[in-house]
Amino acid sequence: MTEIIQCIGCGTAIQTEHPNETGYAPAASLQKEEVICQRCFRLKNYNELQPVSLTDDDFLNILNGLGSRKGLIVKIVDLFDFNGSWLPGLHRFAGGNDVLLIANKVDLLPKSIKQPKLVNWLRQEANKLGLKPVDVLTISAHKGTGVPEAMEAIESYRNGGDVFVVGSTNVGKSTFINRVIKQASGGGDVITTSHFPGTTLDMIEIPLDDEQSMYDTPGIINHHQLAHYLHADDLKKIMPKKEIKPRVFQLNPEQTLFIGGLARFDFIQGNRSSFTVYAANDLDIHRTKLENATDLYARQLGGVLSPPSAAHADEFPELVRREFRVKDAKTDIVFSGLGWITVQHANVTIAAYAPKGVEVMVRPSLI
Ligand code: GDP
Repeated sequence: MTEIIQCIGCGTAIQTEHPNETGYAPAASLQKEEVICQRCFRLKNYNELQPVSLTDDDFLNILNGLGSRKGLIVKIVDLFDFNGSWLPGLHRFAGGNDVLLIANKVDLLPKSIKQPKLVNWLRQEANKLGLKPVDVLTISAHKGTGVPEAMEAIESYRNGGDVFVVGSTNVGKSTFINRVIKQASGGGDVITTSHFPGTTLDMIEIPLDDEQSMYDTPGIINHHQLAHYLHADDLKKIMPKKEIKPRVFQLNPEQTLFIGGLARFDFIQGNRSSFTVYAANDLDIHRTKLENATDLYARQLGGVLSPPSAAHADEFPELVRREFRVKDAKTDIVFSGLGWITVQHANVTIAAYAPKGVEVMVRPSLI
């Protein structure tokens, strides 16, 4: 039997194969008498949290554990990938605990959006998904916007109790927590790791006062996110870095838009209308006639229609078609993780194509 080596920081089993998963340490470090996982190493030496991801079973364990502990649950979602980052089912496991909803990456949305409207929209969508948060806040963890207000809200809603921060991978949870750590520790070394009772999971514990702490839970992977089907270099192109500039297209029926080679949008029926694309500014949008679209995709995937780049086009999953009859003006067709197209006028028929496994959703317009 092989011996299991445990991290001296958090106690998790050490592995040397998967750098983004729990317990990773470089193989060379196994020679040492005391082995520390990369996450604890970074935390200890740089006071910096490194994201780790979880399997579905781990996620269920965490959720089950949360309901049996008392504390405020802070759920972080990504405004750019609201549904993709949602964590369905959290409300069922929250027990009697309050949930504070924090929507991150507000810096990516056009500045013209009014905050109250955005918060209202978030509250409505959360309610539809079964969650009644005690409050809804928007922040940019990256720029720091709204972070002091979020910390104040956490302080007031926790009522002197513990705080559990949850979120799917890539929502910016580490960026947010790192800001909190810097403030909480004032640069000193006060962060500890802690075991979650009943599971083998380690969580980062940030003391809030003498008795209570904020716990960071590992990020949860959502399998239908487009990110899982792309190579790292292609992924960089689809993640917006700056405020998204809406791109408006006046289309006649039987015209098609391609977002790179990642998604396709056919305007099938209705009066000439405008459609607004919200996606990373670097992504090319290509317009063509519906009758030519399938042939163009077959010939130009990885070429004119990229990403995926030519090197990865062969492994890219096929596009799956879904047809929608849009009755209401201002409806978003969302391609999970890629962006969305707002249908500005009522009564049109469209078809949305996304890579197999990636979700397409319809929602009232965010903007
Ligand atoms: P985690 O997996 O939830 O811990 O997410 P990270 O903190 O590692 O962030 C994931 C990605 O989102 C990184 O590329 C961050 O730079 C980016 N990010 C985090 N917060 C923000 C934000 O407020 N705005 C923008 N535009 N990007 C952000």
